[in-house]
Amino acid sequence: MVLFPNQVNMTTESALPLPRLPVPDIRAEVAFQHSQKQNERLQEYRLRPPKLRLANRSHSSTSTSTTAHAISFRGESDGNGKALPELDANALSGSYDRSMNETYFEQCFTRLAKIGEGSFGEVFKVRSKEDGRMYAIKMSKELYRSEHYRQERLEEVRRYEQFSGHANFVQFYRAWEQNDRLYMQMELCRESLDRYLVRRRDIPEETIWNILLDLLLALKNLHDRNLIHLDIKLDNVLIGDDDSCKLADFGLVIDVDRANRHQATEGDSRYMAPEILQGKFSKAADIFSLGVAMLELSCFLELPHNGPLWQQLRSGVLPHDFMKNISPELETLIRQMMSPEPEARPTVDEILSHKKLVSLLERRNRWRLIIKMVCY
Ligand code: ATP
Repeated sequence: MVLFPNQVNMTTESALPLPRLPVPDIRAEVAFQHSQKQNERLQEYRLRPPKLRLANRSHSSTSTSTTAHAISFRGESDGNGKALPELDANALSGSYDRSMNETYFEQCFTRLAKIGEGSFGEVFKVRSKEDGRMYAIKMSKELYRSEHYRQERLEEVRRYEQFSGHANFVQFYRAWEQNDRLYMQMELCRESLDRYLVRRRDIPEETIWNILLDLLLALKNLHDRNLIHLDIKLDNVLIGDDDSCKLADFGLVIDVDRANRHQATEGDSRYMAPEILQGKFSKAADIFSLGVAMLELSCFLELPHNGPLWQQLRSGVLPHDFMKNISPELETLIRQMMSPEPEARPTVDEILSHKKLVSLLERRNRWRLIIKMVCY
């Protein structure tokens, strides 16, 4: 247990004649030391507390049909630049029989295993009865409790559709609603970067630079459209079959230019930029979170959720002992990305112009060209 300094001071002499509580032996150097990641993180999946969006909460209930409807934002607009969800049952598998009692999920997929769980959804590894391929299906955990809640879930569909097709985002196939739940059919990834780190512990630095490059390419795609992810963390990075890292979970994405800025919600506190506490949401917050993720990855560091160590990481005090095995180049970059002041952090484009990343990208492009030439 980590006690805060003020909690130590609260241990008073005034409790007599009641038996005195033992005074904890808190030496700052022991209580406030960073540690390596904990083993319990190896568990199959972790339950996280639900994220609450406080803005614009509506309490009216909503009810979607008992038959499945496909959801797509592709191509349609309500005139304000905002796509309308397309309710098109034809986009579902032709083998779906609406007259049957079984859901679309049950009719069209064989559920093989549960592979993950977040605050909003459970994720299953499935085999499609239509094409025999494996997919991941994310099913919302809770029933729609309001139209506003439904719209928030649908927003994630829009983001997945928007970025699907890019090598560093999870490939998205289709989404549908049935019985007040949302289902999303996606590319099945091997595992999350978080699980990969816990399994491997010691990741070679070359691999870390490659992961950084993948995530910067994904982030560039978002930031170039003035979108902020706000939930960059190892858990939200998935590793595809081709070994590339893919950014997932668009549940908190906000548009810098649009109205949903006021709905911004902070993500996981372990990765949160300090200025988020003052309600300042900017692209620099994503850079900070990415810096924290790189620190965790390169040092196998257990990230604090709060307390003095949390504060230290946000005031430019990084764990020197843990960083001694990483190259000065990577250390400098992580320090810059985790600068306490958002203005001092480099942008995605500035980081991408780092000579190490430029040469990695050139090497990748050369390989791509060779593979293309060999294949055609
Ligand atoms: P959060 O609480 O972060 O908002 P969530 O409810 O939106 O989470 P996700 O983070 O999307 O849920 O998924 C939960 C977990 O399921 C992920 O951490 C990951 O381990 C696993 N997962 C999600 N999508 C896939 C996929 N396409 N392939 C393999 N595993 C996946």
